[in-house]
Amino acid sequence: MTQTHFDVIIIGAGPAGLGLARTLADTPLNIAIIDGLDGETLANPSEDGRDIALTHTSEQIMQDLGMWAHIPDDQCGLIRDAKVINGKSDYALHFDASGKGSDYLGRIVPNYLIRRAAYTVVKDQENLTMMPETRVTGVKTDAQSGQVTLDDGTILTAALIVAADSRFSASRRMMGLSANSLDFGRVVIVCEMAHDLPHNNTATECFHYDQTLAILPMNGLKSSVVVTLPTDAADRAMAMPEQEFSDDIAARFGGSLGAMRLTTKRHPYPLVAVLARQFVTTRFALVGDAAVGMHPVTAHGYNLGLSGAGLLANEVRAAAARGDDIGALHGLKRYEAAHKRAVLPLYHGTNALVRLYTDNTVPGRILRGAALRLGNVLAPVKNRILHQLTHIDERAR
Ligand SMILES: Cc1cc2nc3c(=O)[nH]c(=O)nc-3n(C[C@H](O)[C@H](O)[C@H](O)COP(=O)(O)OP(=O)(O)OC[C@H]3O[C@@H](n4cnc5c(N)ncnc54)[C@H](O)[C@@H]3O)c2cc1C
Repeated sequence: MTQTHFDVIIIGAGPAGLGLARTLADTPLNIAIIDGLDGETLANPSEDGRDIALTHTSEQIMQDLGMWAHIPDDQCGLIRDAKVINGKSDYALHFDASGKGSDYLGRIVPNYLIRRAAYTVVKDQENLTMMPETRVTGVKTDAQSGQVTLDDGTILTAALIVAADSRFSASRRMMGLSANSLDFGRVVIVCEMAHDLPHNNTATECFHYDQTLAILPMNGLKSSVVVTLPTDAADRAMAMPEQEFSDDIAARFGGSLGAMRLTTKRHPYPLVAVLARQFVTTRFALVGDAAVGMHPVTAHGYNLGLSGAGLLANEVRAAAARGDDIGALHGLKRYEAAHKRAVLPLYHGTNALVRLYTDNTVPGRILRGAALRLGNVLAPVKNRILHQLTHIDERAR
């Protein structure tokens, strides 16, 4: 390796790290992005079961970054309506886009296609050095510079180091930043399934007693299925033969989609939410899941990763344009404050929702039934939830 000093070093070429690198493409800054995965896996990531519900804001950002052009139309879903159902009740909290300046609530795109599109738009970026198959073994910073040690002993330096290395970020730990984590003791199983009856572009979230089920409409007679179960039940569901699993899911949805068939592997993800106490310190910032790893029920992790990367990029770009230090703590603190304003209500709100909908006591069941009815009746509450989930009114303005 020849170059060892950069303006910005990003650790982690996941969707958040790549998004940040792309956002800084129009700056004169020299950027390096490091990932443990090899180049071929980064360029063509395999299907991982996650289908990402995108807000209108994220869709717009992906268009601005040139990523959207690399997402095949026929592999996305469109959500026109959404409903939330409590247990076996027929009553649903219902959302649609009517009167909001759009005819859909959001889009669903498989995570591996987002990763592939993000890689495609950065791979020839002139100010970016890609370092695949490289692991970081040490990170430290001081007032003058940041330093990253690689697994072959090479030392890289930079004015700013950004960790985008997942919710279990090793670099966050190396920098001594603490994080609160919340283990829900549950596992979410995600997969795609074909079905006989149409989904009518409706996303459905059913909160049953010890399980939550979500159907996200994909293109045609296909849906993304998200099942949250206690760990032992998830182990049993993963071990079921394919047809038995498919029949079980069809039954859990009350046959509303007719017969169902798995079209992908089942992918289990243990549910652990993580919130870093600080997002920044001297010449160091966290983005993506390394800053906040959300419970997936409200579909916000990637959306927040993308908007957070944009906020950090704005500070860095502005400092570079002024000829100031891009790693100066006051600029990083502005990023932290702005990102926390977006993150904290969603993080705590999502965790409270999960607690409410996994509380099987009689008061818990009554409370969530009442919450759905109140949500339907109180227009400001409903609009607020709709805005949080979709950003639909922001784009309509
Ligand atoms: C089941 C499920 C459903 C979801 N649904 C949604 C949704 O609908 N909407 C939404 O917005 N979000 C959703 N999310 C969240 C979304 O997937 C994540 O927020 C997003 O993938 C995080 O991206 P990231 O780049 O921060 O981290 P990651 O995707 O975890 O990428 C981290 C990268 O860092 C690399 N790395 C790690 N350690 C090192 C190291 N030491 N050295 C070098 N490289 C390293 C890894 O190889 C990886 O490439 C969902 C998540 C799950 C699990």
